[in-house]
Amino acid sequence: MHDKITVPAIAARKGQGPRVTMVTAYDYTFACLLDRAGVDVLLVGDSLGMVVQGQASTIPVTMDEMAYHVRLVARARPRALVLGDLPFLSYQVSPSEALRNAGRLIKEGAEAVKLEGGLAQAATIEALVRAEIPVMGHVGLTPQAVHRMGGHRVQGRCEESRRRVLEDARAVAQAGAFAIVLEGVPLDLAREVTRELSIPTIGIGAGPFCDGQVLVMHDLLGLDAGERREPRFIRRYARFGAGVVRAVQRFGDDVRSGAFPNDAESYHAPGSELHVSGTNRRIETAAEMQDWADGQRAAGLKIGFVPTMGSLHEGHLELVRCARRQADRVVVSIFVNPIQFDREEDLLAYPRDLERDLALLRAEGVDAVYTPRAEGMYGDDFATGVEVDRLASGLCGAHRPGHFRGVTTVVSKLFHAVRPHVAIFGEKDFQQLAVVRRMARDLDFGVEVVGHPTVRESDGLARSSRNARLSAEGRRLAASIPAACDEVRMALAGGVRAADALAETFRAVLATQAPLARVEYAELVDPDSLDALARVEAPARLVVAVWLDGIRLIDNVLLDPADTTPTRLAPVERTTTSPRAGTTPVTMVPSPLHAARRG
Ligand code: AMP
Repeated sequence: MHDKITVPAIAARKGQGPRVTMVTAYDYTFACLLDRAGVDVLLVGDSLGMVVQGQASTIPVTMDEMAYHVRLVARARPRALVLGDLPFLSYQVSPSEALRNAGRLIKEGAEAVKLEGGLAQAATIEALVRAEIPVMGHVGLTPQAVHRMGGHRVQGRCEESRRRVLEDARAVAQAGAFAIVLEGVPLDLAREVTRELSIPTIGIGAGPFCDGQVLVMHDLLGLDAGERREPRFIRRYARFGAGVVRAVQRFGDDVRSGAFPNDAESYHAPGSELHVSGTNRRIETAAEMQDWADGQRAAGLKIGFVPTMGSLHEGHLELVRCARRQADRVVVSIFVNPIQFDREEDLLAYPRDLERDLALLRAEGVDAVYTPRAEGMYGDDFATGVEVDRLASGLCGAHRPGHFRGVTTVVSKLFHAVRPHVAIFGEKDFQQLAVVRRMARDLDFGVEVVGHPTVRESDGLARSSRNARLSAEGRRLAASIPAACDEVRMALAGGVRAADALAETFRAVLATQAPLARVEYAELVDPDSLDALARVEAPARLVVAVWLDGIRLIDNVLLDPADTTPTRLAPVERTTTSPRAGTTPVTMVPSPLHAARRG
C-alpha cells in the first residue's frame, strides 16, 4: 500500500485492477492531503486555468504557470504519481517544442505528462516516449479544443464522432502512451475503447466501465461558492465551499463582537494583570443549538459537551477542561431538569446562580452555553420518556423513583440539541455515568461518553452543588463519608473480601463519626453491570448515599483487591487500624476541623 506509484504500476492495473483513482492538485497542501487519502495519480491539470485562475477555459494557461504548479505539487513528495498537463500551444507547434516543454515539467518534478488529442498528436507522443517521457493521452471531449467543439460538449454521440474518438484512442495507444483519459463520451463508447485498448482508460464523464476515474478536486470537494454549474458526471463528496463561507463569516462575527481572540488565545507578559474577560454564546432553544452544532460539524470541528444543572464548582470546571482537551468546541448546558427530581422541595431548593456560572464558563473559554427553558424543554403535552432497564433500577434508582428516567430523557434531548461527538460525565454520579453510557450505546447516539474522576474538597468530600446547602456542622461531618470510604479500602487491603463486611465497615465508621447521618445505601457492585457483589475479588465499586442535614449526598470509590496500599481520599491526622472483619466499630479521628470551605 505504501509503495511509490510509478508509471509501470499504473500501466499494470489494466485488466487486473484495482481501478485507478486520479484527482487534480495544484498546490503543496492539497497534494499532501490527497496523497494521504490514497489517490493514485495527482494530475496537475490545466483545469487550474478555471478553478485557480478564474478563466473561462483552459486555453490561456501558460507553460510557466504549469511549471510553477507542478513544482508546488512535487514538493509534497507524494506516493502518488505526479502527472503534469501540457497546456495549449506547448506541444501543438512541433514535436521538438513539445519535447522541450514536456522535459521542463519533468525537471520540475512531474513523473509523466498528459496531452490532448489523438491521431493529430501521435507523432508528438512518439517523440516524447522516445525521449523517455511517459505520456498519458486524452481523447473525447478535449477542453483545449473548446472552440472547435463549440463548447464543452459530449463527444461520440453520432457515428462520425464516435469513429473519430475510437481512432484517436487507438492512435494514442499505438504511439506508446501508458494510459489514456476518456472525457465526455457515452458509456458504451468508453466501454468499447476500454475493452479494445491494452492501456488503462481513465474516465471523466465517460461512465463506469473505464479502468479508472478522474475528477477535478474542486468538484469532488464542492470547493466553490455555489456558482459553478454541476455537470451530471460530478459527484460531490463534500460541500466545503459552503463550509468555508460559513467559517469565515463566523470569524467576522467573532472579530466584530470581540469574541476573538479570547484570553487563552492571547499572550501575557509576566506579571501583567491584563486579561480578556471573554464572551461566549448563549443559546436558549434546541433549534438554535442544532443550527450552531451543524455549523461546527460541517466545518469538521469536534464538539465536546458537558451537561450540568448549574451552580458550577471546580468539579464541573474540570469536566469542561477535559472536554476542551478532547474537542475543538466546548458546549456546556445549564438546566435544572425538573423531571429528574423525585422531591419537589429538592427541586425548589436546588441552588441557582446563572450569572456566576456564565462568568466561570467565560473564563474557561467555553464556546457556547445552552440554557434551555423548562417550558421549551417540556411542553404541556410532552409524552416521551427514555428508560434504561436494570442498570437504573438499583441504588439511587431504587430510592428515587423516576429519577433516571428523567436523567436519560433530558440527556437524550440535550444530545439531540447539542449533537456532540463526545460528552463528559463525572464519576461522582457513578450510576448516572453507567446509565447514560448504556443509553448512548443502545440507542446509537454516536456520542462517546467519557467518565471523569471525582473532584474533591481538600478534606475528601466530593464536590457537589448540594454541599452549599449543608450547615457548618453538616459540612464538617460530611467529610466522614470519604473517610469511611477510605476505611473500606484499608479493610480490603487488609484482606477483607466479603462485601457485607466491607459495607458494614462503611456504616460503622459513619455511625461513629457522624451519628446523625443516615446511610441510605452502601453497596459493593460490579463497575460495569452495577450488580451487587458478594465478594470483592476483582476491581469493584463502593457506592454510597448518605443523608445529612436533610441533604442527600452520594459518593463512590474504586475498590481494587490488587491495590495493597490504597491512597486516601481524606487526610488522616491520627491513623487507626482498619477493622478486619468490618464489624468492630472503628475509632478514627474526627474529620479535620479545618476543612477547606467551598470557594
Ligand atoms: P450536576 O450539575 O450535578 O448535574 O453535574 C453535572 C456533571 O458534573 C455530572 O456529570 C456530574 O457527575 C459532574 N460532577 C458533579 N460533581 C462532580 C465532581 N465533584 N467531580 C467530578 N464530576 C462532577
